[in-house]
Amino acid sequence: MTVSRTFSIIKPDATRRNLTGAIVKMFEDGGLRIVASKRIQMTRAQAEGFYGVHKERPFFGELVDFMISEPVVVQVLEGENAVTRNRDIMGATNPEDADEGTVRKSHALSIGENSVHGSDSAENAAIEIAFFFKEDELVG
Ligand code: ADP
Ligand code: MG
Repeated sequence: MTVSRTFSIIKPDATRRNLTGAIVKMFEDGGLRIVASKRIQMTRAQAEGFYGVHKERPFFGELVDFMISEPVVVQVLEGENAVTRNRDIMGATNPEDADEGTVRKSHALSIGENSVHGSDSAENAAIEIAFFFKEDELVG
């Protein structure tokens, strides 16, 4: 198996509750390595651009407002099958459907305030990493 990368965001509901370290530990315990990390205050333009794929969905405005409500931590995670591994660690979008031991089961407040974002494909991971990081900020 080959090592790959995925993109993650620790969302405002989690940074607000001081859960950054707890969530990073879940990534690391799950076999992922943090190869880039920064805490940022997302702008509205960044949030609208990042979530552009969802702009026709009814929750888009709520999602953008939420993502700019507090700082977030954007990260690049590296490991074997990083995209699917991270999605497994995160759990289902709705915490009520998430498996025990996942980030969202353990920490999410609701389907919207669900503590983490993770890329859903290798192609999107590359796009999302490039949205927030320059190549020289990734240090494996
Ligand atoms: P995921 O984050 O699991 O990939 P989606 O890509 O479908 O899920 O949705 C992106 C984000 O939009 C979710 O993580 C969540 O924050 C928000 N969201 C999704 N569905 C809803 C909903 N029904 N109501 C409110 N917010 C939602
Ligand atoms: Mg998604």
